[in-house]
Amino acid sequence: MDIACGRCLMTPMETLSITYCDISQSDLNYFSECPKLFQLKHLDMKGVGLKALDLTPLRVLLENVADTLQSLDMKCCKMKDSHLAVLIPALSKCSQLAKVSFYCNDFSMPILRNLLQHTANWSKMNVEQYPAPLEYYDDFGYVSTERFTQLCAEQVDRLRAIRRPKSISFATHMCPRCGECCVYGRRFRPCLCQRRRQ
Ligand SMILES: [Zn+2]
Repeated sequence: MDIACGRCLMTPMETLSITYCDISQSDLNYFSECPKLFQLKHLDMKGVGLKALDLTPLRVLLENVADTLQSLDMKCCKMKDSHLAVLIPALSKCSQLAKVSFYCNDFSMPILRNLLQHTANWSKMNVEQYPAPLEYYDDFGYVSTERFTQLCAEQVDRLRAIRRPKSISFATHMCPRCGECCVYGRRFRPCLCQRRRQ
């Protein structure tokens, strides 16, 4: 990957899409150094492995695009709590965000709550997608329908105290048995084996 400015023209980019690949720390460092990116409207990083990286440059980028960024896709980035914690202060300032996805990352309930509590500025949010927190799973990697729907409803209620979510959903990792996810949204969609059991 090479998004280095180098000799490139300074035309601002509106969309940056780097998906399903690995990037290095020095690649990520460009995010905070490249003024060309500072008017981004869409940032798509789905499937980029971020587990081993320091996300401070991404936080700096998010701070720089807080007034322009409309969509952020960070599905399947292998992020953990420590990564999200770095981004929350910047995410909370992104007032134009209308679409965000964090599906398939490994977040705990406290950090997800922390994120949601800092989203009062997301008044334009249309579609928001979050991973089911790790506490929702049992020791075997399964999520019971009752527990999942109850915990998700609690998260949404808590969020309603600070703003009105339009379309919010939570999804589990792929079920180890059937390979489908359970999705809690406007409707609850259990994975195949849970549907069969009903
Ligand atoms: Zn299943």
